[in-house]
Amino acid sequence: MATIFSKIAAGEIPSYRVGESDRYYAFLDINPLAKGHTLVIPKQEVDYLYDLDDETLSGMIIFAKQIAQKIKAFSGCNKVATVVLGLEVPHAHIHLIPINSEKDVDFSREKLVLTPEEFEEIASKLRG
Ligand code: 5GP
Repeated sequence: MATIFSKIAAGEIPSYRVGESDRYYAFLDINPLAKGHTLVIPKQEVDYLYDLDDETLSGMIIFAKQIAQKIKAFSGCNKVATVVLGLEVPHAHIHLIPINSEKDVDFSREKLVLTPEEFEEIASKLRG
């Protein structure tokens, strides 16, 4: 059965698309820690990031780098944190989170609540 993230990459479930290639897809996390919090996934359906073959994993990091550069320019943050949890959704993904301090990557913090218009505005700026 396809994971929720495969359905998102296939356009079967809506998402705020940030970037896409033939092998990877990037979209805004629906429960963001910060404006611009993005998830990067391989279109290949593998649960655990480090089960990806070397070529897919290295390509994913290079794809994520391009997205991270856009997030940094968009948010003016100090750095873009790269976080891998994967405890909730069994489809390998990388969180890209704009940060200015360590506490900005505390996943137990309350998440931002954004309107669909705010999500779309962020996604369109990151796509541009
Ligand atoms: P993790 O698996 O890394 O522990 O957490 C999964 C992340 O995916 C969470 O930050 C959660 O907000 C996000 N997420 C879960 N389901 C969806 C969804 O349907 N759409 C989007 N955009 N994000 C999701």
